[in-house]
Amino acid sequence: MYEEFVTPCFVFDEAEFRRGVEAFGNALRQRFQRVAIGYSVKTNSLPYALKSARACGCRAEVVSHDEYQLARLCGYEPSEIIYNGPMKSKQTFLEAVEGGAIVNLETKRELQWLRELPAEGKYAVGIRLNINISHISPEDADGDDDNSRFGFSDESDEFECALRQIESMPNVSLSGLHIHRTAHSRSPRFYERSVAYAAQIIRKYKLTLDYLDVGGGYFGIFPNKPTFADYAEAFYRPLAEQGVANLMIIVEPGNALTASPFKFLSEVIDVKRVDERTRFVTTDGSRNDIDPFFHKSDYLKELLPTDDDREIEHCQIVSGCTCLEYDRLFALTDAPRLEPGDRILYNNVGAYTMTLSPQFIRLWPRVYAVNEQGEIKLVRRESSATDIIQYEQ
Ligand SMILES: *Cc1c(COP(=O)(O)O)cnc(C)c1O
Repeated sequence: MYEEFVTPCFVFDEAEFRRGVEAFGNALRQRFQRVAIGYSVKTNSLPYALKSARACGCRAEVVSHDEYQLARLCGYEPSEIIYNGPMKSKQTFLEAVEGGAIVNLETKRELQWLRELPAEGKYAVGIRLNINISHISPEDADGDDDNSRFGFSDESDEFECALRQIESMPNVSLSGLHIHRTAHSRSPRFYERSVAYAAQIIRKYKLTLDYLDVGGGYFGIFPNKPTFADYAEAFYRPLAEQGVANLMIIVEPGNALTASPFKFLSEVIDVKRVDERTRFVTTDGSRNDIDPFFHKSDYLKELLPTDDDREIEHCQIVSGCTCLEYDRLFALTDAPRLEPGDRILYNNVGAYTMTLSPQFIRLWPRVYAVNEQGEIKLVRRESSATDIIQYEQ
């Protein structure tokens, strides 16, 4: 199938995407009556993927006014949006609250904006709770003060102060808590403890809520890793202990849903030898496409040579198309020699790749989708100089 694509390109596998959404939803429904999955737009904001997520029953989880507008343009009603983060605009914030979105307060200015809602209406908002991982689950913490910039803290007086302000508004009620925090371990233990902390806060302030939004940070479907059922169980146990397991549970998976449905395909454009030992293989892809933080040293890759009659080469360094000396993707040792025209397929590259790609040297690549019937469709053309020049005033 890969011969049909023009490189460089991403390929979005819709069946694989749906498989992830359904697996997470089914696991949560084993434990909770009401569940919602928010597709984390920042993780992959390809409009076609946002529309697919909506077709799979997801809400859009957005963290800026730009993402909010993008979700609206992709067909999401305000009531299908979860609005988080500090970068809300007043206009989209008020539209979202009035339109019945899940809106989790992150900043003090949002508390002020609530005062501009029509006095005669009835509105509900959630609030993000600040979490210091060292204090709630030291085994999952990065050092002994793994604090957070996000949410209102109950270790200072700010969480209580925000509650009091909401209570003072007759037309606004508090309907949920948001506790997104990502621990490196991604362990169910961490979620169990952060949900227990939320349950303790619910009890301390005698809150009557509609939902608990446990955020993102999960493993996808991977061998020998926690499953969606393990996470669902971790959310359920502490809530059941406190008698509040009737809350709607909201998850906001980014990586867990978007990594595996995307592949990246590049082609060898040149090979050169610089000494006895080393052969450089230049491709039309770049680390900027699939490793925007330049942290990875290898990939879930498949080599697709055009024939199988190749000598073994001791050392080949597969490199990108940019002029950065360090745009080197991986090394092959004692492997069949790569030649121009051969292709390289990188798996599991949908999370935090396309949204972090700079407009550096070679602009954004094409994106194809393969739908559930196996049909291939170009869903984003490659960007070009004409796209860049149109911002000129
Ligand atoms: C980034 C983010 C997510 C998604 O995180 P993953 O680690 O990709 O699952 C979910 N919710 C919020 C508020 C986020 O900022």
